[in-house]
Amino acid sequence: MRHTKSHRNMRRAHHALKAVETSACSKCHAVVVPHMLCMNCGTYQGRQVVDVLRKLTKKERKEKERTLREQEEAKGEHDHDHATASK
Ligand SMILES: [Zn+2]
Repeated sequence: MRHTKSHRNMRRAHHALKAVETSACSKCHAVVVPHMLCMNCGTYQGRQVVDVLRKLTKKERKEKERTLREQEEAKGEHDHDHATASK
């Protein structure tokens, strides 16, 4: 059957890529993929599911523990705009 340019172009009209949807982690506010555990702090649905410190060296672990604690402390007090919230 003849495939016209029109048919080809109509078929390809659906080929555009969509931006990946993201949301913020409820614990550390890192950018996360929805329905996926947070790769930053290893929690999912407010539950610790992965020990993110396990693979790290002592030095890296210290640094990570510090940043996670800072993120927890900064929780309530932020008045910046989230890019995803405006949608
Ligand atoms: Zn997190």
